[in-house]
Amino acid sequence: MNELPERRIFLNDEYLPLKDAKISVLDRGFLLGDSIYEVIPVFAGKPFRLPHHFQRLNNSLNAIKIDNPHSDTEWREIIADLSSQYPDQDQSIYLQVTRGIAPIRDHIFPGEIKPSVFVMSTPLDPAKLPDPEKGIAAITLDDLRWKLCCIKATTLLANVLARQTASEQGAAEAILIRDGFALEGAASNLFIVQDGLLITPPKGDELLPGITRDLVLELATEHSIPFKEEAITLDELKSADEIWLSSSVREIIPVVKLDGVMRQPPGPLWKQMNQLYQKYKQDLRDGIISSD
Ligand code: PLP
Repeated sequence: MNELPERRIFLNDEYLPLKDAKISVLDRGFLLGDSIYEVIPVFAGKPFRLPHHFQRLNNSLNAIKIDNPHSDTEWREIIADLSSQYPDQDQSIYLQVTRGIAPIRDHIFPGEIKPSVFVMSTPLDPAKLPDPEKGIAAITLDDLRWKLCCIKATTLLANVLARQTASEQGAAEAILIRDGFALEGAASNLFIVQDGLLITPPKGDELLPGITRDLVLELATEHSIPFKEEAITLDELKSADEIWLSSSVREIIPVVKLDGVMRQPPGPLWKQMNQLYQKYKQDLRDGIISSD
């Protein structure tokens, strides 16, 4: 096994060194994938769009009938404590809530059960991310996920296999196609640009309501960039002027190669949106925008 990084994490009301953090084999998150998660970037010690992440966390918990084990204030304290380990680095907070430990393995929820909570902070290293100015290659794949992709569930096997297939084909992301429509990436939301119009699929059960996606639409509204939330067919994807993918960690990244076919270099609307997004981040770092 690779050596674990030295890091303090939060597990079930305790702060522990990562190497000492252990969960029970009877935890339903481990046995059944009965759990949800969030990923929250922290820039210069300031969490990015925290209320939006809390809202999505609550939505995921409600959807799988787990009571939120912490108040927003408690979550804030945990995030602040863990991110204070790396004061000079941007970070990504990973937060997971499982239904907890049951005495026997059974699909049915046990009556009395305390959710398990795991939170860790990982430094974000831009050198390990693809250069957005160069763009990425993506492939299209059949969407093999279940029907409630709006829940940020840790049951990610279909996403894992899709990303792995992409990686084996030299691509950084798989764009998932269901019934002829392009929905989102295996770990990102999808945008296309056609004749100056920005288009992204509407929120619904079949895609994750990305925090970055919402910010892109907010910035488009503020800066009078025309957009619409509308289903995107596979043909529209292939013939789009620009294709972008968005996520908290990879931000907004243009697709310059799709299914092995080279496309234009990153387009003008991506450049404009990326500048607006980078300015938003800088304003957050400088305290001009609050993370609330
Ligand atoms: N869609 C899926 C399936 C994801 O896993 C993610 C992020 O991991 C996203 C979209 C983007 O969401 P966010 O912008 O909140 O990171």
